[in-house]
Amino acid sequence: MTDCLFCRIAAGEIPAEVILENESVMAFHDLNPAAPQHALVIPRRHIATLDDAAEDDRALLGELMLAGAEVARLLGCAEKGYRAVMNCNQDGGQSVYHIHLHVLGGRSLSWPPG
Ligand code: AMP
Ligand code: ZN
Repeated sequence: MTDCLFCRIAAGEIPAEVILENESVMAFHDLNPAAPQHALVIPRRHIATLDDAAEDDRALLGELMLAGAEVARLLGCAEKGYRAVMNCNQDGGQSVYHIHLHVLGGRSLSWPPG
């Protein structure tokens, strides 16, 4: 999708600080970090929201989670702890409609979120 910000990042049309990438997923630093470590993990393929994910996306969603864990290790926050979360639609606080796993770490995170 040419009008999707994260599709354009995945295609290399918009620069990002890439942490890891393979043929199906990509991780990069969030432009506006909400924690000392804040990365986003996206599938290269466009899926607008978690609510749009289907049975065919099962493996891809698993890859996203495992890539999130790898990102946390690479950022050095795996042992102390981190949060991996996906916002969905308006009440979930989603602002970019291409699914992305937030990986947040480097400080103690409160729960429940606001
Ligand atoms: P969400 O609100 O869950 O949809 O998260 C979208 C995230 O994308 C926010 O944390 C933004 O800071 C981040 N973001 C927006 N534009 C960019 C960009 N060009 N590069 C990296 N992160 C971005
Ligand atoms: Zn997209």
